[in-house]
Amino acid sequence: MADPRLSRRSDLGDRIKVSFEFFPPKSDEMEGRLWDTVTKLEPLSPHYVSVTYGAGGSTRERTARTISRILTESSLRPAAHMTCVDATRGDVDEVIRQFADMGVTRFVALRGDPAAGVGAKYRPHPDGYSNGADLVGAIRRAGDFEVSVSAYPEKHPESADFATDIDMLKRKVDNGATRAITQFFFDNDLYERYVERVRRAGIYVPIVPGVLPIHNFKQVANFSSRCGAHIPAWIAERFDGLDKDPQTHALVAAAIAAEQVHDLIERGLGEFHFYTMNRADLAYAICHMIGARPEIAVAATSAAA
Ligand code: FAD
Repeated sequence: MADPRLSRRSDLGDRIKVSFEFFPPKSDEMEGRLWDTVTKLEPLSPHYVSVTYGAGGSTRERTARTISRILTESSLRPAAHMTCVDATRGDVDEVIRQFADMGVTRFVALRGDPAAGVGAKYRPHPDGYSNGADLVGAIRRAGDFEVSVSAYPEKHPESADFATDIDMLKRKVDNGATRAITQFFFDNDLYERYVERVRRAGIYVPIVPGVLPIHNFKQVANFSSRCGAHIPAWIAERFDGLDKDPQTHALVAAAIAAEQVHDLIERGLGEFHFYTMNRADLAYAICHMIGARPEIAVAATSAAA
């Protein structure tokens, strides 16, 4: 029988599943930082980790290298993000095969943003997949892969209304997506209302909350306005005056994200995807607070009791 002291997580942690998102590093220094992050988060036994893919395949090689290193040097299961931007169907199919040959079994399928940046008009490649739903179909045709897609609790900025937005999610699920990960959000009521709309549309896959611990409030505020995620005034108020005080900024950020996740747990949620920005500190602290802890720490605590 398993030694109960070796249970990896606290009682709360037993119900919690976490995943972590990374981006492919651009330099040796950033690679070192990412690897410190992977090493710190690995003992939390995430469900999987995912690696983003730059617009127009700009990070294709770096995404592949990062995934390959995760596969060979850690026990983590990586999911490869993919986009359709500026690529023919043939190019995309080749990237899918390349990832599959490396041992990848999970994908996060996205349309992607135009290479000119968020807000520029999106034009599908004339011989390419035109949106996330199309790409899901291509990945599922290539093999029996687990495919996640995006979801937007405040709707995607390009969508005319929620009905159009949720219709795209439905097409992605109809084409074989088995879960959706949300754009980050800070108002749990908005998330809950969105999930109700999604269920009313007959979509029953998990809608996993994407949680963004705020490492840099100014950057997040700037990015949020472009991707349609709303920052409530009370959050801006909490970070007010902390631009030059990184220590307090980090404590406030951890408290805000932990509060958000605890509230989602109280609403019955058990699975969370963390946008780590390749940094372990906040994600690790929040996981600790929700009971997702390394095996060894729980074993030591139990033995001492
Ligand atoms: P889709 O699901 O295809 O469409 C999103 C919405 O936009 C739909 O509701 C649809 O109705 C509407 N829409 C789509 N096309 C049009 C159009 N031509 N006209 C009008 N409305 C339209 N980006 C990256 O570059 N790399 C990544 O690795 C990456 N990872 C992400 C991970 C997650 C979990 C999320 C939430 C986003 C990620 N993104 C990434 C950002 C994403 O690429 C952008 O949000 C992009 O604008 C939309 O991609 P999508 O797959 O969500 O699009």
